[in-house]
Amino acid sequence: MVMASAGDGSQASASFSSTPECRIRRRRRLAPLPVSTAAGSSESAGASAAGPSREKRIRPASPTSSSSATSDVDSDVEQGEEVDEAVEEEELRPLPPAGPLHQVLAAAAAQAAWPVAFGSLSVAGRSRDMEDTVSLRPGFHTWVDGSPMHFFGVFDGHGGSHVSELCRDRMHEFLAEELAAEAASFAQRLSRRQQKAAAGEGTSAAGATTSGGGVQDEEQQQEERAWRAALSRTFRRVDALASLACACGRIASPPCRCPLSGNSGIVGSTAVVAVLVRGRLVVANCGDSRAVLCRGGGPGAATPVPLSDDHKPNRPDELARIQAAGGRVVFNNGHRVRGILAMSRALGDRMLRPEVIAEPEITVTDRTPEDECLILASDGMWDAVPNEIACSVARQCLQDGNPADAAAAGGTGPEPEPEPRCSNAASLLVRLAFGRDSWDNISVVVIDLQQRE
Ligand SMILES: [Zn+2]
Repeated sequence: MVMASAGDGSQASASFSSTPECRIRRRRRLAPLPVSTAAGSSESAGASAAGPSREKRIRPASPTSSSSATSDVDSDVEQGEEVDEAVEEEELRPLPPAGPLHQVLAAAAAQAAWPVAFGSLSVAGRSRDMEDTVSLRPGFHTWVDGSPMHFFGVFDGHGGSHVSELCRDRMHEFLAEELAAEAASFAQRLSRRQQKAAAGEGTSAAGATTSGGGVQDEEQQQEERAWRAALSRTFRRVDALASLACACGRIASPPCRCPLSGNSGIVGSTAVVAVLVRGRLVVANCGDSRAVLCRGGGPGAATPVPLSDDHKPNRPDELARIQAAGGRVVFNNGHRVRGILAMSRALGDRMLRPEVIAEPEITVTDRTPEDECLILASDGMWDAVPNEIACSVARQCLQDGNPADAAAAGGTGPEPEPEPRCSNAASLLVRLAFGRDSWDNISVVVIDLQQRE
């Protein structure tokens, strides 16, 4: 996302790196694609339109009903070879050679009970500027019960990359601190309750025998509250730091007054973060990057389950909140807060307060044995590749991957090792978006939730 006010008078050229092109890309970038232009029905799961002309390439879901949408995804999977061919022949043009293109980050963290392996690709794409970042931090923290916690994030910067870089470098550190603080009070509450329960058992044995499940539920809820609180505070802390960050890289209070500091008030970043702990997926989102869970429901089926809801200024509840704060959403090449920013929440952007807030929306989802993978991506991918297609492609890629490659690269040492199938899945999704004419930075993290041979 970049500011709408960037002026340019020239037409786009065919060059990847020309400045006018870049500006036009920026303007498009700030403008979300129309909500319902596609003939395909992929919007049902929250994906942006891919455009009718692309429909035939990979056969998006039928528009008639959600059940037919599912069956169409089925057919994609069953005709996997065909999908691959279509992707190869029609959509996978080579990525442009210029710019900070390839930053393949991949690793695997084998965990017996709840496996997690992951890979990512983040590219500038057709943009000259790279403002996306990703953060892959397996085992970044240990929860109070000894469970390892894994952190993955995609951050899509606008007006510069320094806020998204701040998110990449610091967010998991802040979260570890906040989780440690929460763990302490969580443990205290737990022990108080256990003491109470023990005392209750002494006086009323009948009541205690039936309360086991209830105590467990209560514990789980307390745990969830702790994670949510830690994530909210983490976002607040990163946001506070973002407000002091200058384009020159300095974080200073009072704010830096170097020549680069002029634009700092409209610099920000989205953040979509997934924390995996035991059998749960905790997703915190701020902005229009997105997390989608691919949940299998039998042979051939992969249902996309969005774990975040894009913060668009015209989302009814967000629009109401902005108006209640005295702000306005103006249609200027898409719905924008004050006609400037095409998202309603972001980290940074202190000039757009109080309308644009950094409060994340958080979901906690129980993992099931049917869960195939989790995809985190910036809108550079989601605007071009609908949820159903992304799920189908990633799942197929993970299933078809060469186990020998994976085993060869799989973790023998203490550090997480590259997981080729996840990297391939991320790479394929990036190339698919690029082939579908994404003009934006494209960042994809794929987290495999299956134990594969
Ligand atoms: Zn500065």
